[in-house]
Amino acid sequence: MAGIKELKFAIIGSGMAGLSTALSLATNGFKNIAVYEMAVDLGFFGAGIQIAPNMARLLDRLGVWRDIEAEAVELTESSIRQGSTDHELAHVNTSTIRDTYGYPHMVGHRASLVSALYNRCRQESSISFHFSSTISRVLSWGPKPKIEVEDAFGKSHEHEVDVVLACDGIKSVVRAEMLDTLKVTAEVEDTGQAAYRIMLTRDKLQHDPELLQLVDGQCATRWVGDGRLIVAYPISDNNIYNIVTIQPDTHFSEAPSAAYTTRGSKVQMLRVFSDFCPRARRLLQTVSDDTVCEWKLRVHSALPTWTHEQIALVGDACHPTLPHLGQGAAQAMEDACVLGFVLSMMPDTSPHTIGKFLKVYENLRRERTHRLAGLAFAAGQSLLLGEGQEKDERDKIFAASKDGRKVGPFPDRWADADIQKMIYGFDCLTDAYHKYQDILNALD
Ligand SMILES: Cc1cc2nc3c(=O)[nH]c(=O)nc-3n(C[C@H](O)[C@H](O)[C@H](O)COP(=O)(O)OP(=O)(O)OC[C@H]3O[C@@H](n4cnc5c(N)ncnc54)[C@H](O)[C@@H]3O)c2cc1C
Repeated sequence: MAGIKELKFAIIGSGMAGLSTALSLATNGFKNIAVYEMAVDLGFFGAGIQIAPNMARLLDRLGVWRDIEAEAVELTESSIRQGSTDHELAHVNTSTIRDTYGYPHMVGHRASLVSALYNRCRQESSISFHFSSTISRVLSWGPKPKIEVEDAFGKSHEHEVDVVLACDGIKSVVRAEMLDTLKVTAEVEDTGQAAYRIMLTRDKLQHDPELLQLVDGQCATRWVGDGRLIVAYPISDNNIYNIVTIQPDTHFSEAPSAAYTTRGSKVQMLRVFSDFCPRARRLLQTVSDDTVCEWKLRVHSALPTWTHEQIALVGDACHPTLPHLGQGAAQAMEDACVLGFVLSMMPDTSPHTIGKFLKVYENLRRERTHRLAGLAFAAGQSLLLGEGQEKDERDKIFAASKDGRKVGPFPDRWADADIQKMIYGFDCLTDAYHKYQDILNALD
């Protein structure tokens, strides 16, 4: 009988989850890994990304950290400011994170992260990439899962493998089909929020010393306002200033299920933030008309299951997370690394064993990912508060923190030391190593 390392895997999607899953399987010795991606290439690149220590630790284990670290920017401070006045509500020193967790909190360009993972995958002969290949249907969930793949010419092909790992993002076709097959539901939840994602190159900021100072620093700045938020930090060796805004969604609500991204309007963006302080407005004014990209922020309620027979969901496909904690991609990567480890512990290649070990993966990951998705939602709520008692309470906690006093949980959950400990201090592989056998026994 062929050994477990000969098992045939189909990975759907080459986003952060797909690339790290492929690499994690390959580094665990699996030899037949095919990645199917509907896009003609690696897809959306144009944004910054937070690389928290829990993600950096995994990137290091996957062998890509050194290149990413070389051009990412280490965050040593975080400043939370009133959007309308630029008054600093709180200031958090994050320079100790590297010593505390063994890795720094960095911010980087998505392109360097994705390219590093992709290039590393290309070094593995066990991984093959198939772009312009859309999974249109799941034809069988097991014991040998079969998927229908549509190529660039609209021609359909059937692929039968041993395991399918659906890393197909928040709009996952496999998730929808899985829930349908199992006759269960998990509604897509509209957050009522959208995000603009913008990158300003250094030359665009040369004329304005105050803005230049932002790109030259190592600070994540958050300007908070009623229902709106601007998060900004330097990336790419301090050559680009990355901005993410959160605002009420007005566009996508007209197209509830189809669209998630669209070209944004600069005029509209400036109108949304017209009561923000001059510094924040000057930043947004610097943006070129044609580079505003708007994202709809959606999540869905907790799924009753992530697996069915020999198919499992990974990353945003099973736990989309709002960006307020900067952990969506990090959690996808944790999933990927745990999957590689757990599947490498299978004693045999029987479909029953595969299904059981996919369940072990789900059990290891479910609680943490749901907890973080909830925390990210709460973090957003707190930073988007309008005038009123809740905001006053929040600002009192911020103010006390400036004198080193803690009078309640820090409202910017991303910068809260206890939350950081829970997120950054967690080593998903050590956790999986210690727990997988008990989970397996409990499944028997
Ligand atoms: C505004 C914003 C800011 C964010 N900032 C951060 C941050 O700072 N840090 C962080 O960790 N996370 C952040 N995130 C979250 C992060 O981007 C996601 O959690 C992460 O990219 C999810 O990766 P994924 O691979 O699961 O899904 P995706 O990146 O969506 O990848 C899915 C892939 O599957 C492909 N695909 C889909 N359907 C099919 C199909 N049927 N057939 C073949 N291919 C298919 C898609 O083309 C795509 O390439 C942010 C998100 C947003 C919206």
